[in-house]
Amino acid sequence: MNTDLTRASAAELADALASKSISSVEVTQAHLDRIAAVDGQVHAYLHVDAEGALATARAIDERRAAGESLPTLAGVPIAVKDVMTTKGLPTTCGSRMLEGWIPPYDATVVRHIKAAGMPILGKTNMDEFAMGSSTEHSAYGPSRNPWDLERIPGGSGGGSSAVIASFQAPLATGTDTGGSIRQPAAVTGTVGTKPTYGGVSRYGLVALASSLDQAGPCARTVLDTALLHEVMGGHDPLDSTSIDAPVPPVVEAARRADVAGMRIGVVKELGGEGYQPGVRARFDEAVALLVERGAEVVEVSCPNFDYALAAYYLILPSEASSNLAKFDAMRYGMRVLPEGIDAPTAEQVMAATRDAGFGDEVKRRIILGTYALSSGYYDAYYGSAQKVRTLIAQDFARAYEKVDVLVSPTAPTTAFKLGDKLDDPMAMYLNDIATIPANLAGVPGMSVPSGVADEDGLPTGIQILAPATKDERLYSVGAALEQALLERWGAPILSRAPELGADLVKGA
Ligand code: GLN
Repeated sequence: MNTDLTRASAAELADALASKSISSVEVTQAHLDRIAAVDGQVHAYLHVDAEGALATARAIDERRAAGESLPTLAGVPIAVKDVMTTKGLPTTCGSRMLEGWIPPYDATVVRHIKAAGMPILGKTNMDEFAMGSSTEHSAYGPSRNPWDLERIPGGSGGGSSAVIASFQAPLATGTDTGGSIRQPAAVTGTVGTKPTYGGVSRYGLVALASSLDQAGPCARTVLDTALLHEVMGGHDPLDSTSIDAPVPPVVEAARRADVAGMRIGVVKELGGEGYQPGVRARFDEAVALLVERGAEVVEVSCPNFDYALAAYYLILPSEASSNLAKFDAMRYGMRVLPEGIDAPTAEQVMAATRDAGFGDEVKRRIILGTYALSSGYYDAYYGSAQKVRTLIAQDFARAYEKVDVLVSPTAPTTAFKLGDKLDDPMAMYLNDIATIPANLAGVPGMSVPSGVADEDGLPTGIQILAPATKDERLYSVGAALEQALLERWGAPILSRAPELGADLVKGA
């Protein structure tokens, strides 16, 4: 195993912990030290809970010493996206609206993590209420990409991808409504999965768009991602859309890494014009590597994917405007009294609070959503978008009659510079063009590193999509590709990160 505990994979740490060659306190402390050394530059955490993490680590070490048999990841630390409620720990969703809010309960996902005995290092930064592709919409300032601190780490889950890529945690959680796990993974050279809709409980996640939201795992290897997927997933009676079935056999698939005889469809509509040359080149090479490993590749057309972005940006704001109505200055977080009014009405307090508490992107989407849902416009906008959604699901269904999985580049570009798209919402939205169809159809998707673009030296990702409930196929393909690339390069992709994957703080 790597002697630096922060460089080890979660699977390696789990083995070393099980054999008692290291303790959870040592592993947890190593990560806390790393956070103290580098997070001033990366700004991936909004809140670090050193005390809580070490208390869990000590308890796990004691239970192990007492001979108790423990879950696989017991003692392996993790970072949690700040959209997930954590009892007794701040949960802000990257918004001023929830500044100082301490939830009285745990999200189901967090409950699973605690039951697995995993120390929670802290909460990770994100675009406000998960709206964005760069973390620049966080009210607490952006996170930075460990490959180049002047660039974005993706979004909305850029805090989670950045902690993984800068070795501040071996594992992190994410949520993906339109790509917020997969696109951050792609632009930081890490792995992330959006499970099948309903595969992981949404209970206790602050909702963005309920019919699209899905929580999932983030890690540096496909196997680690599978191990965390297994912990996070499973049926939850508290979520009415939760699938009543066991978690798909993702760990087994990741260990087998077998694509022989698998039929892989390259989506014609995702990957042409508008995709950076280096992203396309690495994608083509990745597909060729899968063919070398025995997969059969065909081109597949999903013509309605061309309308996915338009449909998403009606459905998401509509649901978000409704979900965010609960921030009414009465129940959670912030309350602002309007200036110059002696006895303000509830509506006036609400207006003053929402004006001060929400950022521009959130306001933009609330306005769009309430407009699309208003009477007289509902059928023209929301209703039409729902019809397009059905057409996209039918495209997937037709494609899966012919192939086992679909592939495309995860994002059209590598990480862009901070500030580049901040004043141009459309340009920002376009970064999710390849990830959004999966959310609209509820199918699972994963991003795995495909290499580094020649033109800028930044990581690129390949997206794998599977039919609903067949999440294990993502892991078969992802792990096969990871192995093939490892053989080609002799080292994982993160070892190529110039600044921080290798050594952010010189001599640290
Ligand atoms: N970037 C997309 C958006 O802004 C996706 C967000 C998400 O997946 N949470 O809506």
